[in-house]
Amino acid sequence: MRQVMTKTILMQRPYNFSAGPATMPQEVLAEAASEMLDWHGSGMSVMEMSHRGKEFISIYEQAQADIRELLAIPDHFKILFMQGGGLAENALVPLNISCSGTVDFVVTGSWSKKSLEEARKYCSVNVAANNESDGHTSLPDPQTWKISRGASYLHLCSNETIHGVEWHELPDLKAMGYDNPLVIDFSSHAASRVLDWNRVGLAFAGAQKNLGPAGLTLVVVREDLLDRALPICPSAFNYKIVAGNQSMFNTPPTYAIYMAGLVLQWLKRQGGIAAMESRNKVKAALLYDAIDKSQFYQNKVADNCRSRMNVPFFLRNESLNEAFLAGAQRHGLLQLKGHKSVGGMRASIYNAMPTEGVQALVDYMLEFQKTRA
Ligand SMILES: *Cc1c(COP(=O)(O)O)cnc(C)c1O
Repeated sequence: MRQVMTKTILMQRPYNFSAGPATMPQEVLAEAASEMLDWHGSGMSVMEMSHRGKEFISIYEQAQADIRELLAIPDHFKILFMQGGGLAENALVPLNISCSGTVDFVVTGSWSKKSLEEARKYCSVNVAANNESDGHTSLPDPQTWKISRGASYLHLCSNETIHGVEWHELPDLKAMGYDNPLVIDFSSHAASRVLDWNRVGLAFAGAQKNLGPAGLTLVVVREDLLDRALPICPSAFNYKIVAGNQSMFNTPPTYAIYMAGLVLQWLKRQGGIAAMESRNKVKAALLYDAIDKSQFYQNKVADNCRSRMNVPFFLRNESLNEAFLAGAQRHGLLQLKGHKSVGGMRASIYNAMPTEGVQALVDYMLEFQKTRA
């Protein structure tokens, strides 16, 4: 038996506004650190365990049950733990469910556009709606969409991480007279808000924004969509095969699943998704109000679709960008630089960002404005 040493990690860390991989709940990091060498007396780190052993199976089953409970996922959906991230799903969704040959896309920013370009390799794509003309700052009204009858699905990105545009209510295709399944890329707001699964056929998310570390992809898919894969779909990425093997057709990203499991338990201790949603509303309002009230900062996204997770904003005097970022760093506010395609700043305020972190950012923004205006 080797000697094992653990210590509790207590430290004040800076607030990290990265869009992803993103800040994790500190409690979760400390818990993982304390279990790193010896998980629950097993004598093994989670990353050293067989994925088929009873220890890891218990971690996997708990994570599955917690995600179903927290996200209120109905029984007729399968929960798959995959790899390859959101970008792999851009290919895997058409490979798995585009058998009719035509797929509709609603383009609202960089991510939905990327999804569309990838899908083109596997099926014919139709742009049902596009908000490019206003610089991806509003959402096209579903009543104006040109939906193809009989298309395999309609894809939208329910939170555009780069442009900061979020669907606060998903379209109800059934009510509009279509039975095309709705596919959502909810990578950057999964578990941040309550979701109406009646409107969804398939949802996918890379874990590294709101659920855990990079390496794990969550796919939630309605059972009736499992049997539609194109013959060229790789077995390890075939939803039916993955589902039929409890996400263990091949070795799953075990450590990332374990970390996501700790995040899920943390979410439960926070009061669940509805409680998170209320907190996220408060956090977002705090930041948007500060931006809107100032003549110094600006957010260009329409009121009804401003993201609660990713807040892009601009200094009206862009020559101050570097000074703003350097000062932020000194104040313990990290990774605020905007995406290169949009410029300016972006504050990602996922579940794990406490209200105090957003308040610290707002305080710094007001202070910076005072000294520079
Ligand atoms: C980050 C992100 C992706 C890409 O995820 P990868 O894991 O890098 O493939 C896709 N879609 C959205 C909405 C994202 O925010």
